[in-house]
Amino acid sequence: MPGDRILDRPGFSRRDSPPQDSRPTILLTELDSVPPPREPPRERPISADCMSSHLSHRLRKQRTLAGTAAVSGIGYWTASDVCVEFRPAPENSGVTFIRADLPGQPRIPATIASRSDASRRTNLVAGDARVEMVEHILAPLYALGIDNCDVWVNSLEMPGCDGSSQAYIEAIDAAGIVEQTALRRRLDVHKHIRIGTDTAYAEAWPAIAEGLSVRVRLDFRHAAAIGRQQITREITPNIFRYELAAARTFILKAEAEALLQQGLCSRTTYRDLLVFDEAGPIDNPLRFRDECVRHKALDLVGDLALAGCDIAGHVVANCAGHRLHAELVQAILAAEAETPLKKSA
Ligand SMILES: [Zn+2]
Repeated sequence: MPGDRILDRPGFSRRDSPPQDSRPTILLTELDSVPPPREPPRERPISADCMSSHLSHRLRKQRTLAGTAAVSGIGYWTASDVCVEFRPAPENSGVTFIRADLPGQPRIPATIASRSDASRRTNLVAGDARVEMVEHILAPLYALGIDNCDVWVNSLEMPGCDGSSQAYIEAIDAAGIVEQTALRRRLDVHKHIRIGTDTAYAEAWPAIAEGLSVRVRLDFRHAAAIGRQQITREITPNIFRYELAAARTFILKAEAEALLQQGLCSRTTYRDLLVFDEAGPIDNPLRFRDECVRHKALDLVGDLALAGCDIAGHVVANCAGHRLHAELVQAILAAEAETPLKKSA
């Protein structure tokens, strides 16, 4: 079949070597009956009707892990083996990546100030130390309300795992979460903020739920197997855990081939993420009919975590990516700085 040359390359190979004609050729429209991995997805559209002064927006106590948790895997881009260990951290310390493999074990705070712009992923830098593709780790930490955590890593790039946050959620859940004494800072969005263009933009609105809610849209009309998708969710621990965490990152086959030609992703296979051709994901059934936009929502949560505090607001991302997400975080923080009397903590 056309394009199967990629199967002869060292990367994006069929790890389980099924017969080539076994590749599912299902279109999204035929997948309404595909079950989610754990619980039925609950459509919970959020309406502006919910917006009212009854929202409590109470401050909560900070939290950290009750024990340690570890996840191992391969970095998508660098093809290196890497182990990540999550450890409890003192209150008010935030989330910090620590490069255990570098002299002096440099610490890299997971804040917007540390962000380094890169294609398709979120990277952080402090001095000469950097960590890459951190969004799939930051998203579950934020959604589960883990404010203080030391993330020890022994390589540059975080494990890709299956392209989702599922492995991280499971590790964090196994470690457990404990409350600390200090209150978590919360940033309330008080006014509409919009950045981007007419077609690719990110917005923040005053909250329409107790905390953060998101509406994410993608438009892949140039790739019919993905098409146009939209999702709206309040970000709570269980909604993230059961409806977003398992959604995997995705790429078009032509893009994957281009990365391979650059010498990247040499150990990444079709089973490690969703690689779409015209018929759908190659050798990898969808977990959700709208898995792509769910993953974009996951990415958005991971990038919003760089605010370093809870966000009480409704965030809209329309055909946006990591850069726009980060610019929105900066705009939200700047708007808060303009209205210091409205700070919530
Ligand atoms: Zn992602």
